[in-house]
Amino acid sequence: MDIKQYTNDFLDRIIRRDPAQKVFQQAVKEVIGTLTPVLTQNPKYIQEKVLERIVEPERMIIFRVPWRDDKGEIQVNRGFRVQYNSALGPYKGGIRFHETVTADSLKFLAFEQTFKNSLTTLPLGGGKGGSDFDTRGKSDNEVMRFCHSFINELYHHIGYHTDIPAGDLGCGAREIGYMFGQYKKLTNDFTGAFTGKKPNWGGSLLRPEATGYGVAYFAQNMLATRGDGLKGKTAIVSGTGNVGTFAIEKLTQLGAKVVGCMDYDGSIYDKDGIDAEKLAFIKDLVFVRRGSLKEYVKKFPKAEFRPGKKTWDIPCQIACPTACENELHTEDAKLLLKNGCICLTEGSNMPCTPGAIDAFQDAGILYSPGKASNAGGVAVSGLEMTQNSMRIYWTREEVDQYLQKIMRDIHQNCLQAAEMFGLKGNYMAGANIAGFIKIADAMIDQGLV
Ligand code: GLU
Repeated sequence: MDIKQYTNDFLDRIIRRDPAQKVFQQAVKEVIGTLTPVLTQNPKYIQEKVLERIVEPERMIIFRVPWRDDKGEIQVNRGFRVQYNSALGPYKGGIRFHETVTADSLKFLAFEQTFKNSLTTLPLGGGKGGSDFDTRGKSDNEVMRFCHSFINELYHHIGYHTDIPAGDLGCGAREIGYMFGQYKKLTNDFTGAFTGKKPNWGGSLLRPEATGYGVAYFAQNMLATRGDGLKGKTAIVSGTGNVGTFAIEKLTQLGAKVVGCMDYDGSIYDKDGIDAEKLAFIKDLVFVRRGSLKEYVKKFPKAEFRPGKKTWDIPCQIACPTACENELHTEDAKLLLKNGCICLTEGSNMPCTPGAIDAFQDAGILYSPGKASNAGGVAVSGLEMTQNSMRIYWTREEVDQYLQKIMRDIHQNCLQAAEMFGLKGNYMAGANIAGFIKIADAMIDQGLV
């Protein structure tokens, strides 16, 4: 069989079947494009129609979320949960609250999550959920009423052994708290049905830091393959949410100087580097005051605020996109390369467009896909589930040791898988292949379900 022809026909069918689902198509194309050697050596995946099965979520739930705002007016949002694949464990993945959330975007994110969770080495299936509700500009009470209404429907479908949601964009400890509270009230059951809980009621220490720290550890592992390290390197982290702030923190602790980051309003360029004091200011701004990075330059006037501008023109050696999908385009990639970038570690899900990825790979710099390098968050979610089951808490140091080991193992597994199939040093292929084989074999073992 001509494998190239088979995968091309397969992708055509996906596009014909759901022509409007652009980001999902992009994610599937990226994965399938790297599986040719695996399919060639293992015809069982074709005979068992694993590709055809893996691109269909096991279940998608769409529901109405009515709630009342502070003025007493009724608002109606749409809620979703994509229970994508449970071959390796219960569905696991975050909840995104943002106006851009659609069934398409969550189906794509759930697909990515399934591969990412497979890479964590933990027994986790893949899922994702959310709503087109935007937490920005809402009062705590409005957020609470919305979260309670969201759970009034979602609680039927989730549970400790079934589906364990966590946070994502627009959904942090506050939202998890409100959702967990309502879940507990409705089920009369205090279990670890959510992760990303606060440590005083069941959360794991280091869970908030985990994705960002994991990104920095992954970059460190990649650089080590070239006898290099983070010490003295100039870095850029695009987002300043949960992933970005903690990536800045760990990169700095490991010796890099982070000179740029951004939010919805624009970016900052701070040549002196964002040290611990400046980062504390950003964290307070983002997580407590929910303000804009514009304020950074008022406090630190030597830095520059660039309204509406992204970070990619700022010269750096290490770049970590941590904002959202398709935030880094071909022209941005070319600019980064021209300015001396040697390592691109994705912190968000599919932040680089296919053209940008090609540019990095053609240039031969270190490039890692988010499903490998941002897996630290969901990995510590897995550790939170373990601690909940055992009814114990591990110390920060213990969790950090596990996190470092998991990131090392993911890195190693990507390298090994890539090398085994003749694609040495290609982290994207390695992540897709290692993630795929584990899920595909489990699906075959479990038969047609
Ligand atoms: N939303 C995060 C991710 O994209 C974390 C998911 C989780 O902890 O379940 O991986």
